[in-house]
Amino acid sequence: MSSLEHLRSWVTSANEHPDFPLQNLPFGVFSRPGLDKRGGVAVGDCIFDLQVAIEANLFDGTSRVAAEAASRGQLNDFFALGASPRQALRRELLKLLDENSPQRERLQALGETLLVPMRDCQMHLPAHVGDYTDFYVGIHHAMNVGKLFRPDNPLLPNYKYVPIAYHGRASTLCVSGTPVKRPNGQTLAPGADVPGFGPSKRLDYELEVGVWMGQGNEAGEPIGIADASEHIAGFCLLNDWSARDLQAWEYQPLGPFLSKSFATSISPWVVTAEALAPFRAAQPKRPSGDPQPLDYLFDEQDQKQGALDIELEVLLLTAQMKEQGIAPQRLALSNTLNMYWTVAQMVTHHSVNGCKLQAGDLFGTGTLSGPQAGQFGSLLEMTEGGKHAVELPSGETRKFLEAGDEVILKARCRREGQVAIGFGECRGVIVG
Ligand code: MN
Repeated sequence: MSSLEHLRSWVTSANEHPDFPLQNLPFGVFSRPGLDKRGGVAVGDCIFDLQVAIEANLFDGTSRVAAEAASRGQLNDFFALGASPRQALRRELLKLLDENSPQRERLQALGETLLVPMRDCQMHLPAHVGDYTDFYVGIHHAMNVGKLFRPDNPLLPNYKYVPIAYHGRASTLCVSGTPVKRPNGQTLAPGADVPGFGPSKRLDYELEVGVWMGQGNEAGEPIGIADASEHIAGFCLLNDWSARDLQAWEYQPLGPFLSKSFATSISPWVVTAEALAPFRAAQPKRPSGDPQPLDYLFDEQDQKQGALDIELEVLLLTAQMKEQGIAPQRLALSNTLNMYWTVAQMVTHHSVNGCKLQAGDLFGTGTLSGPQAGQFGSLLEMTEGGKHAVELPSGETRKFLEAGDEVILKARCRREGQVAIGFGECRGVIVG
């Protein structure tokens, strides 16, 4: 599938669509009044309804098996099928939706039954997430935050050997658009000897990419580094909402707990490994003096093309800005090339002790900040722990998030000679 850049679709809104041109075809779960939750594929400003497509006999063989699994109210079975059926379905979809498709008239006759306007649909979590793990592979974030907490020793000695992570809470994952309620908790005020209890005063976001597990492994049977990328079904945006005052008090010695588990938002569309193939890159060279990854984490091919080149953006829209008709303000522009470990290394490390990973498990990469101002993926970094306020075009300032603030994450892949694709959005408004 190397010559996709010239393809155009008879779904005219797909051509030049910033997120969902024919070259993307991400999977998701949607509903609309009168229609149950079901799987679909984003193309332009429509959702291709896989149940309707199956009823119309548009698929057979392997692609039919994949379409049936992807048409359900959660995509776990589809993810569990692995890469080859997913690729077969993608090839069929590319043919059906191509502007020269022989089936074009038949499909067009199905109208909005087959191609549902996205604006009429509600999106849902794409899969049942058995387990959610949040990594910490954004090295600049680890450095920036480490400096705030430990100025003399920002990066702990394990960082360059171990892809650091903690087990997150799957039950509080929510889809883009779900309001986020400010959490209560224990915090230790500066200079105080004992903690107080109340609403978090230092509520923050984290700009992350979500990684959807495809085929899992049996307990006790690790996934080798050379096979690991085959186990990844796709990617989304992830906002790991963080209550920094709760976090600072609770995080030692076992890591984040209630400061993170009140909400984690994800974008609804699963951008497949296939759609991202043209945007693979070599894993950036480690600075001289850094150790090589241990053997079980090292694979030539993974080093050559296991990284991803995805532009990531955070925007903020306050209630006042919305009222005054002011556009969301960009807070950061970063990139997945800021990852110290590849997604394959994350999968391999996670399973190396025999831990069982399952289709529909979700990993967060960790906050993906760049090294410079304008590239920081959290307010904690932008304001240096609340020292400086961020100025907004409405004249308002922010050190941390306030009631009515909406955080919007976006992602986009661009490369010379390729049609750009996007991830859609991951949004959330702070309540209270
Ligand atoms: Mn995080």
